[in-house]
Amino acid sequence: MERAKSYHRRKIVITFFGMILVLALLGVRLTKLMIGDSEYYASLAQDLHERERTIKAQRGRILDRNGVVLADNRTVCTISVIHSQIRDPEQVIKVLTKELKLDETAVRKRVEKVSSIERIAKNVEKEAGDRIREYDLAGVKVDEDYRRYYPFGSMASKVLGFTGGDNQGIIGLEVEYDRVLEGMPGKILTLTDARGVELENTGESRLEPEEGLDLKISLDANIQKFAEQAADKVMDQKQAESVSVIILNPKNGELYAMTNVPEFDLNNPYELTGVLQEKTTDGDSDSLQNALNRMWRNGCLNDTYEPGSTFKIITAAAGLEAGVVTLQDTFSCPGFKIVEDRRIRCHKVGGHGAETFVQATQNSCNPVFIEIGLRLGAERYFSYFRQFGLNEKTGVDLPGEAATIMHREENVGQVELATISFGQSFQITPLQLAATVSSIINGGTRITPHLALEAGERDGTLRTVYTHETGKQILSEKTSQTIRYLLEQVVDGGGGKNAYIEGYRIGGKTATSETLPRSANQYISSFIGFAPADDPQVLALCVINKPQGVYYGGTIAAPVVKEIFENILPYLGLEKAAAETEIGTFLANS
Ligand SMILES: [Zn+2]
Repeated sequence: MERAKSYHRRKIVITFFGMILVLALLGVRLTKLMIGDSEYYASLAQDLHERERTIKAQRGRILDRNGVVLADNRTVCTISVIHSQIRDPEQVIKVLTKELKLDETAVRKRVEKVSSIERIAKNVEKEAGDRIREYDLAGVKVDEDYRRYYPFGSMASKVLGFTGGDNQGIIGLEVEYDRVLEGMPGKILTLTDARGVELENTGESRLEPEEGLDLKISLDANIQKFAEQAADKVMDQKQAESVSVIILNPKNGELYAMTNVPEFDLNNPYELTGVLQEKTTDGDSDSLQNALNRMWRNGCLNDTYEPGSTFKIITAAAGLEAGVVTLQDTFSCPGFKIVEDRRIRCHKVGGHGAETFVQATQNSCNPVFIEIGLRLGAERYFSYFRQFGLNEKTGVDLPGEAATIMHREENVGQVELATISFGQSFQITPLQLAATVSSIINGGTRITPHLALEAGERDGTLRTVYTHETGKQILSEKTSQTIRYLLEQVVDGGGGKNAYIEGYRIGGKTATSETLPRSANQYISSFIGFAPADDPQVLALCVINKPQGVYYGGTIAAPVVKEIFENILPYLGLEKAAAETEIGTFLANS
């Protein structure tokens, strides 16, 4: 009995100490958990309910007036890994490194990182994404995504603009209409436990993305192509710095084409082209960004220039409207005009001699237009300047429109007024000139040049029809008619004769201006033309910046507009007619 008793006592003591030991070990473990690993477990706990994957919204397309797709999307893939679901990390690293052509160390770092979801690569070609999906690797997610794609490459690059990595617009229409085009991204929410394993029977909640709206614009891909070809050709021939062409409907302001060559590749917008590439070789990031900004600039509206003689259209309109000049008035040009203490020269050194106002316009005679400016006086001239809308921006639906740079009215003496009258000593954008001349020749209604026509869903459901301000009368129908007649005479027998096309009634005006500083001997040559002269359906402006060799607007810019018109007038359904100018009839009626 004694032996059995002592055996039991020993057993109790051993059990007792054993239990104390177990408790002590548990205590140590607990302490480690509570102090040492708390951060790790806290982060796991936070991951609960929070795995969220974005479903990108498909961006709306940009279509031309005939439905030709100018900006589209291509399907690309985003590849991600979910750490907790990976079963064979080495295989995942091997496949992703190979298929995505990435550095193994970088992929390994991402795959081994303890996180809820880790993005490995985006904008992956769909074929590569499909191949990765076929491996069926646990923990690897292949999500479809969209990337902007421009089917015509560089066409209308400065008008369309492009998007950044997250599909937001950077320049052009892509930024102006970003809100319309971008849509609303969707979400996939997955409930998981602390280890990142998706919880059963909870399903995933899906918020479907909302596609962006398609934007239909007034641009015509064919007219844009004609304009770019003609601009490229003259830029090459004349070794010019840049060439701008704007083509619009002068009645309602719809832009058919707008180019400022050299254009750039919208599918590679960060790749410098031509001269810019050569100039930026030092690898300086500031100069690289500046060069890119220069390449992306739309000279038609982001930059101003001194218009020169095309601006005589505005002086003539103001003079005729105010009644300070008529078509029958006669003048005499000795080759210069004295204004205060200044002798301002005509471009024809020997002078144009005796001439009517019609002939003076054909001759683009400076002294005659100075005379009209002086007859108006600064106050009246400036009130027409405002009335015609030249002090305000045109309101075009593109970003970064530059404002007119004009003298302050109180600082304008006779000499300043004289120079303004023939288009010197101030600056406007080419688009402002095109919009103002459109408004003068269309019957006198100020138009807003614009691109957006309507926005709608992909299936064609119309959502928005854009309206652009129009209708403000800036001068009388009679003055408008007289200007159309005057400008037709310029093309028929004056400085614009190189824009003449047999069988069409074309009006227009040339200009040649010297850039600043004058000592550089650099020029800007331009021509603005419209057709048919009696009922204008289309207006085109060509501005050649710094041509080499012959630089007269009538010699080099007028033929560009002629070439464009030869192509687009038949395309627009404008048939050739007998080119009757009927000068006598018009004069008798005016
Ligand atoms: Zn003259």
